[in-house]
Amino acid sequence: MEFDYPITELKGVGEAIAKKFAVLGIATVGDLINYFPRRYDDYSQVTIMAELVPGAVTLQGTITQATGRYVRRGLHITEAVARDDTGSVRLVWFNQPYRATALKHDHAYYISGVYERSGQRFVIMNPSMELVSDFPVSTARIVPIYRETKGLPSRLIRTALGQVMGAIKTLPETLPARTIKEHKLMSYGEAVMAIHFPASGEQLAEARRRLGFEEVFQLSMAALINKREHQHEKGLAIGFNESLARTFVGHLPFTLTDDQRRVVWQLFLDMQKSEPMNRLVEGDVGSGKTVVAAMAALMAMEAGWQVALMAPTELLARQHADTLYKLFKPLGKEGSIDLLVGSLKAPQKAKAREAISNGSAQLIVGTQALIQDKVDMHRLALVVVDEQHRFGVQQRKTLQAKAGHMPHVLSLTATPIPRSLALTLYGELDVSILATKPAGRQPIITEIVSPNSRAQLYQKIDLQLTEGRQLFVVCPLIAESEGLKANSAEKIYEEFSKKDFKHRRVGLLHGKLKPTEKNDIMQKFVNRELDILVSTTVIEVGVDVPNATMMLIEAAERFGLAQAHQLRGRVGRGEHQGYCYLMLSDSKAPNKRLRALESSNDGFRLAELDLELRGPGAIYGSMQHGQLDLRVAKLSDTKLIAAARKSAADCLDRGIVLSKYPLLHKRVTRLRAVTNLN
Ligand code: ADP
Ligand code: MG
Repeated sequence: MEFDYPITELKGVGEAIAKKFAVLGIATVGDLINYFPRRYDDYSQVTIMAELVPGAVTLQGTITQATGRYVRRGLHITEAVARDDTGSVRLVWFNQPYRATALKHDHAYYISGVYERSGQRFVIMNPSMELVSDFPVSTARIVPIYRETKGLPSRLIRTALGQVMGAIKTLPETLPARTIKEHKLMSYGEAVMAIHFPASGEQLAEARRRLGFEEVFQLSMAALINKREHQHEKGLAIGFNESLARTFVGHLPFTLTDDQRRVVWQLFLDMQKSEPMNRLVEGDVGSGKTVVAAMAALMAMEAGWQVALMAPTELLARQHADTLYKLFKPLGKEGSIDLLVGSLKAPQKAKAREAISNGSAQLIVGTQALIQDKVDMHRLALVVVDEQHRFGVQQRKTLQAKAGHMPHVLSLTATPIPRSLALTLYGELDVSILATKPAGRQPIITEIVSPNSRAQLYQKIDLQLTEGRQLFVVCPLIAESEGLKANSAEKIYEEFSKKDFKHRRVGLLHGKLKPTEKNDIMQKFVNRELDILVSTTVIEVGVDVPNATMMLIEAAERFGLAQAHQLRGRVGRGEHQGYCYLMLSDSKAPNKRLRALESSNDGFRLAELDLELRGPGAIYGSMQHGQLDLRVAKLSDTKLIAAARKSAADCLDRGIVLSKYPLLHKRVTRLRAVTNLN
């Protein structure tokens, strides 16, 4: 059996079943082998019938009678009796008419299932049965349970896997022999075999250790290779001008927090080196990352270099340009700031390009187009990437070609992941954390609201609108879509402007509008010419409107935890108390994520929880997260993570020649592309 054979090669897998497998992403034997169990049921203890007690049981016995009949249309029942030397037990199957004829009398079977009361008697309902003479996959063992799809229960997945055990045993090794020996790991084939069909709990634990180790090992190796390559690039040493830093800070309308000070200092140190900085600053929404980036930019500008600040959306780029303009005005440096975004008119664009190429523009703010465009930034020394993680290898190369050297790179993120994970996933980055927010910030008051209480909520909102505050409404969809009940932005806009809030000024903002239209509407909201802005997640990142104190999230259960927290960060940015209302689609109980949002304002804590609930890849939305997800390794297993990371570093230090390990090489190469943040 070859790994790239289609699964239709397996017995019992016809076209129809193959389609079900395809739903789970399984097309080949190799895919099937790589489809790991979600959990296990322990049926390994075989009990004698005389000692049966209710609960999950495994028995060994023979069938003495088996009959099937339709009790009514659409309901077939098979009843059987199984016996061992000590007693007997009644078995019942629903709608499995083949059972009665398939059971062989006088053959010994393993029978696994839950022994429970049904009416007046005790039975085992829909038990799994396997001949004792076969290799059992569903009985008398620790039974793997897979993520299933309609028409494809775990039982069928196990039967299919049972046919490829030979292939599993021949799986080639994927780790260097020395690593295996040093860490006393199982071979790859043994581990995969044991993850599907563990002989014991201990064996399963060992298999998990081996496979988890490998995941972290590969990720770390990819990140470390990226980092080492990056360090060999020549960078620009940018001196630190203390009196300028003091002047800048002296003009701020607030005092920097200790965390901001510490991180700024770290950035100055990094930029003074001749190797390029590559640092990620993690800080919750509102922790004040912009001013930190501004200070790094200031130093580069003062030394006569150019700085590019990239934001994921035009809205945000424009807003950053405004903020920076205000921050640099007291120093008389606002004139060297330029905005370059797609929606500028041709003459404006030409003017901006000219200013960039002649060097009069020193701080260029824009979207990613900045660095892809035919923009001549030959004096580029620092790139600041705000709120996004998709700045890949290719762009880095483009930048380097443009500048003739590797610029310093500063990434900012408001989706903080725990440091241990950041180091593993992005070992190539140095990580700084803004753990505290500026003093005096009131936490946002968050409330889950059932649709039954909509009217009351609207009254509450209206009171605040009367006081001059503003409201964001965020909807998961732009327009009504079939099958999805979630309220769309268009629908809410209709209802609000014609009915519920017809006495207020309501605007609609979504991603399908032209950039200029988006800016106009946003500008109106900023200028308080609108009271309510109904929107989609286009406002997710960065938008800063301090007078907007309320946010209503429609169909809140549809949003990810990190995303909802980001969204909520749009309110409570000014002097007034911020409120976030999480509106449910129906009156069902809210999920865990919403409960967590309601009870915590701490982005770090929530990111951690999101990780536990959804895996690391999920946090990175549009990144190819399937690749990043650790399927086996537990993020809480810090010992394993540290050991695997160290082991990967050791291999590189010893000068491992990756081409000698083709499987490891392939995997690491792929991961390098995915994890490459800069
Ligand atoms: P984020 O980290 O989400 O990007 P911003 O940089 O947009 O946060 O800062 C949020 C708000 O906090 C801004 O209005 C900014 O002027 C303000 N701010 C930043 N640092 C401080 C500070 N040390 N004290 C008070 N306010 C601050
Ligand atoms: Mg920001």
